[in-house]
This record gives sequence, structure tokens and C-alpha cells, in this order.
Amino acid sequence: MLSADLHAHTTASDGTCTPEELVRRAHAAGITLLAVTDHDTTAAVPEAARIAGELGMRFLTGVELSAEGAPGKCHLLGLGIAEDHAGLNETLAFLSRERRERNERMAARLRKLGVAITLEEVTQTAPPGANVGRPHFAQTLLDKGIVKTLPEAFDRFLADNAPGYMAKTVLSPQEAIALIHAAGGLAFIAHPGLIRLAGHETPETRLTALRALGLDGVEAYYSKHSPAQTEQFLRLARKLDLLVTGGSDFHGDNKPDTPLGAVIDGQPLPAELLPERLLAMAR
Ligand code: AMP
Ligand code: FE
Ligand code: FE
Ligand code: ZN
Repeated sequence: MLSADLHAHTTASDGTCTPEELVRRAHAAGITLLAVTDHDTTAAVPEAARIAGELGMRFLTGVELSAEGAPGKCHLLGLGIAEDHAGLNETLAFLSRERRERNERMAARLRKLGVAITLEEVTQTAPPGANVGRPHFAQTLLDKGIVKTLPEAFDRFLADNAPGYMAKTVLSPQEAIALIHAAGGLAFIAHPGLIRLAGHETPETRLTALRALGLDGVEAYYSKHSPAQTEQFLRLARKLDLLVTGGSDFHGDNKPDTPLGAVIDGQPLPAELLPERLLAMAR
């Protein structure tokens, strides 16, 4: 039986393991079905899929898209996508250009706040071609001794409500779901237990609204979900006829309390809990 972790990040976005390190660590952790789901990029996929093949593991191509707009802010996982899909890559390249421009503005804003920092310094903490983001800003602030810990960097400067934060251009949930479908994948709402709901919303109304936009499933099994939350999302998935997936959201040293493969009770997810449609997309 396959043991799965279908949510993990590499140095192509804000993880600290290279694609090869990630796959080797997954193999060592007993994972036999892995999905790489970097934020807004599939750059790690070819290398990760190659190493997974060498180690005899099954592999799912993935991406995690940030979305904002009706019915609210969320992250969408695209699983089983074709990483060479032209439309997908055009949109990811656009988001990457927008992100670079936003990072320039964020560095300028930090300088206005009296923090001596340049985007060049921040970019140097990431491998070439990576999607640079706030975790790299946080690392730079730490390296320069401006903060003593990474959480302090977010609390004082980088969190959504902190003075150094700048929003970035993102897709709407509808656009993100349509893009995932165009690239041949299934669209899942990531870590549904962590999303912030408006006062009038419940998890059920949010999932119902996303389902009307084409959502295929929910990440019911998630490292940070309580047993009650897992049950809640499994129940809602049955009720709303949504598929389920599961993953750790491993980021390496950027989230040291989230080990690779710790999906449910600290263990990888038995593949029998995953839908056949999803398993059939693995290479
Ligand atoms: P960005 O895409 O550049 O806006 O960065 C988003 C990433 O920053 C998320 O994926 C998290 O890994 C990290 N992040 C955002 N807010 C926080 C926070 N308050 N504490 C720690 N990490 C955070
Ligand atoms: Fe992240
Ligand atoms: Fe996420
Ligand atoms: Zn993630």
C-alpha cells in the first residue's frame, strides 16, 4: 500500500530543501507517493520527478496557488497538472514578474521604516530562479541581525498586518481553479481548517461557493488539523460530493515543527484514504 504526502515545498518556492533533497528525505521517511506543491511555480517538478522515479516512488505534479477574491482568500492545490502546459506557465511567469515588482516595493518600504535592506540581499538567500517571498525577507533580516528569530521578522515587519507588508497580485479562486483544470489537474482547497472565514460564513458555505466555481476537493488530512477538523472536512466532503487529499505542508527549516510525511498522527497518509481519480494521475 502506498504511503502519501501530497503537500510539500522546495527551494523553488519557500522550502529549504532542494528538489533532490526533498525526494530523498521523503524516501527515507517511508513516503512512496509524493506531490511537490510549490507556491506559484512548477520549477522543481522535473528534477523531483526524476529522482522519485530513480528511487521507485510514485509522484504527483503539483502547485499551490494563492487566491483572493470571491468567495474569499484561500490557497488552491493543483494536483496532477501537466507542468509543461503553456497557459499554466504563462500565468505563472506573469505572477512571478508581479511578485518581483512587489518585492522591490516591499524592500523600499522596509528601508522607509529604517531597515537597511536591498532586494539583492534578499534574493541571494534563495537559489537562482526561485520564487522569492517573505520567508526570504525574514531570513535576510535574521542574517543581518535586525531580528533575533524568524517569527520576530514576521511579527515586526512582514506579517499581513505588519508595517513592511505589501500585497502581491494573485488570481481569484475562480481563475486559479480554471487554470488548474486547463492544465489537466484537480483543484483542492489547501489547509481548509486554517482559512479565515468572514462573519457570515461557515466552512460549509465556503466549500459550497468554491464547489460552484469548479472545486474538486478538500485537503481534509492536514498536519495542523485537529482530529475534529479532519472529521469535519471528511464529513463536508461526503456531503458536498468533494474529493479529499492530504499532506504535511513541509517547508524544511522554514517550518521546523512540520516534518515531512507527518500528515495524520505524525505518519504519511495510507493511499487507500485517497480517491482513485487522484491516484490514477500519479506517474
Ligand atoms: P509571500 O508569498 O511572499 O507573501 O510569502 C508567503 C509565505 O510567507 C507563506 O507561504 C508562509 O510560508 C510565510 N508567512 C506568511 N505569514 C507568516 C507569518 N505570520 N509567520 C510565518 N510565516 C509566514
Ligand atoms: Fe509557504
Ligand atoms: Fe498554503
Ligand atoms: Zn503549502
